[in-house]
Amino acid sequence: MPAQPNSSAASAASTPSTRPAKRPLLLGLDFTEIVALTQRAGFDAFRGKQLFHWLYQKGIASLDEATNLPKDYRAFLAESHDVGLPVIERVLGQPGSTQKIVFALRDGKHIEGVLMRDEGKTSLCVSTQVGCPLECRFCMTGQGGFQRNLEAGEIVGQALAARELLGEGELLNNMVFMGMGEPLLNLEAVVRALRLLISPQAVGFSSRRITVSTAGIAPAIPKFGEAGTDVNLAISLNATTDAVRNRLMPINRRHPIAELLAACRAYPLLKRRRITFEYVMLKGVNDTDADARRLARLVRGIPCKLNLILFNPHESLPFEPSEESRVDRFGQILRDAQYTVAIRHSKGRDLQAACGQLAGHVAETEKRPRLAAQKALAAQKALAAKNA
Ligand code: SF4
Repeated sequence: MPAQPNSSAASAASTPSTRPAKRPLLLGLDFTEIVALTQRAGFDAFRGKQLFHWLYQKGIASLDEATNLPKDYRAFLAESHDVGLPVIERVLGQPGSTQKIVFALRDGKHIEGVLMRDEGKTSLCVSTQVGCPLECRFCMTGQGGFQRNLEAGEIVGQALAARELLGEGELLNNMVFMGMGEPLLNLEAVVRALRLLISPQAVGFSSRRITVSTAGIAPAIPKFGEAGTDVNLAISLNATTDAVRNRLMPINRRHPIAELLAACRAYPLLKRRRITFEYVMLKGVNDTDADARRLARLVRGIPCKLNLILFNPHESLPFEPSEESRVDRFGQILRDAQYTVAIRHSKGRDLQAACGQLAGHVAETEKRPRLAAQKALAAQKALAAKNA
């Protein structure tokens, strides 16, 4: 049986909203930093090694759980740092199926993740920011505004905390950075988190099984490549002309399609790796045969695969999903052009747990739902007028 949410975390951090967010987090520090911190305080380096193991392999929420650490060392750590494991505050969905997770951070803010289970594989979608500044029109997170970047420990911590929702014998097979926020706008913390996730001494996750998705921060793509984490890169493309992409994803006005794809062509891909282009299918907006043919031309020469994603409708968003027959036809055009195409049917539509619908809970309870609806309606009218 899977553990109940919060079973271990609740005692350690039961009131995240009342805790000051001043002390640095232990989660997010690398091995060298933890050992240096330990030695500076007059403790043996070996204690730092033990602490590192407790943090990243055991995923402790409280120093009280690190039972083989001396009390004076734990007292020093508790005085100077917070562990920083996000608290699972709420879980929607049943164990064994898709589950949306609402994490509470120590400053009382919330982020969301999704555990997706499909054909015996379990994937976790994590957030990199609280909210998002990019305002993609089809995305609930984007409608709610931006609050802050996550720290590296808060990103790694989502993977560690979510483990308690796994059933007996269930492993986390994949991680996708496609939750709340734009990862490449929080590059330093994201790279630090990735290094901890893939380090065999820390979490030990395979870099092949992690995908970071960007909405198109073109200048950050080479920097991300230079960081050498060797994780997979996905691009949330969603349109084949700048005119449509400008309206769907305002970031395109700063970094248009040609600039974005040039960054993709120059990206230092490892052998046998491919960039994934994500394409949310929106009825009457980006789903014509001409779009499919343009898409095939645009990404020509880039080692890639194409994911067509069925849009999850939401009352605050002015779009409808493309008909399945339209999606099939769109996919066939791309396959005929020799691309690998996957059609991703939505998981957890009832939970609002799929792409672009994270933060539904947060948006509805903490943010600006009326403003979101107004912006969505204005965008719908503008799009309808353009496409008429
Ligand atoms: S789709 Fe991604 S980048 Fe765009 S607003 Fe939503 S969270 Fe931000």
